[in-house]
Amino acid sequence: MKYSLPIYISKAFLVILDWDLVKKSQSILIYASFTAVVIYFMQIKYMYHPLANTELLVKLEWLYPSIFVLNTFLILFGFFIKNKPKFHIYYVLFLSVYYPFSLLGLPIGIGLLNILNGIIFMGIAFTALLLFPRFVVYFGLASYIIAYFLLSGLTVLGYLDYAMAYKPYILLHKDVQNTQIVYSMFYTTLYAAFTITLFDISVERWRRYNSKIEKLSCTDELTNLLNRRGVNQIIDLQMQQAQITHRETSLIMVDIDNFKKINDQYGHHQGDLVLKHVADILRKNLRASDVIGRYGGEEFVILLPFTLIENAVAVAEVCRKALEQSTIKVNETEFLYVQACFGVSSTVHSGFDYMSLFEQADKALYEAKHNGKNQVRTVHTL
Ligand code: GH3
Ligand code: MG
Ligand code: MG
Repeated sequence: MKYSLPIYISKAFLVILDWDLVKKSQSILIYASFTAVVIYFMQIKYMYHPLANTELLVKLEWLYPSIFVLNTFLILFGFFIKNKPKFHIYYVLFLSVYYPFSLLGLPIGIGLLNILNGIIFMGIAFTALLLFPRFVVYFGLASYIIAYFLLSGLTVLGYLDYAMAYKPYILLHKDVQNTQIVYSMFYTTLYAAFTITLFDISVERWRRYNSKIEKLSCTDELTNLLNRRGVNQIIDLQMQQAQITHRETSLIMVDIDNFKKINDQYGHHQGDLVLKHVADILRKNLRASDVIGRYGGEEFVILLPFTLIENAVAVAEVCRKALEQSTIKVNETEFLYVQACFGVSSTVHSGFDYMSLFEQADKALYEAKHNGKNQVRTVHTL
């Protein structure tokens, strides 16, 4: 597929939706750096404005470039720990503290009682809940409240002036009473807790709904196994893992023998019951880490992550025997037997290419069918 420039740009911004915590944090830092640059230019532009607190803004000219440099350093640090998963959560937790504190420039500059603070808080809270695990968001929220209390405290105690950067606000709030700031500490906290709870509930519902839909779209209704889409998705991921770790991974394709006859002789409903039965037998003989799905009408696919081909052949043989020995009750007097063919392939022969892994298993299956059915086959001799 060809991508145009706008699609590339939006893809770059959508890195934020990646499941990797570090990548998400880095994306947010990129956004924060971008904001720092914008604020820096605004600071330069309005520094000598008659209404601005020129003295302070000149003195603090280094502030936003420093935040930019610090953010860049933190982004690079993210790359450094990318392959050390143990540190990921600490990185994210650190940022959840760093981020609220780095935002304090605004309330210090334009005043604690400015509505802009609240709007920015809402945006960040909502985005954070969409992107990060809950406890990270609450951790971040706690640090935001601590930062806010600290700032309010310093203002009330007279260590900080109110709205330092912009004279009209300083004038407007000349009569701001300390009690007003103390009140605002509490209603801001209440408001923050209220907003975040509302967002949290909505995001949680949205997530649950999404995962339900996703699960449904990947499940085969009859056997409750993965369907073709689900199998493709998971095998794709597993193959990436196998490729990264260079570990052999095997695939088994299963096709029930003479299934058409079963349908013709006993009816479609009985055929469905046989499919369920086969699914149960296969599942019972696999490990929890194996991926199994119904790939087509009476075909199943099993991926055995990090499994040598000779072990996969052994597993297939166990399943084949289990099927052969099992019976399905049609009625009080009649029993039905079911057999199947198994084609086994492995990344040792196909490489870590999803398509050739499938092709080789399919070829092996074809050979099993032509060789008299009810057997396990590979295209390469072991
Ligand atoms: P072979 O041993 O060569 O595999 O022969 P076969 O009869 O098993 O294979 P064939 O592909 O000729 O027939 C598959 C049959 O599976 C045809 C189709 O009617 C039936 N089938 C596909 N999906 C379903 C299903 O969901 N339920 C039922 N009952 N039958 C199905
Ligand atoms: Mg078939
Ligand atoms: Mg068949």
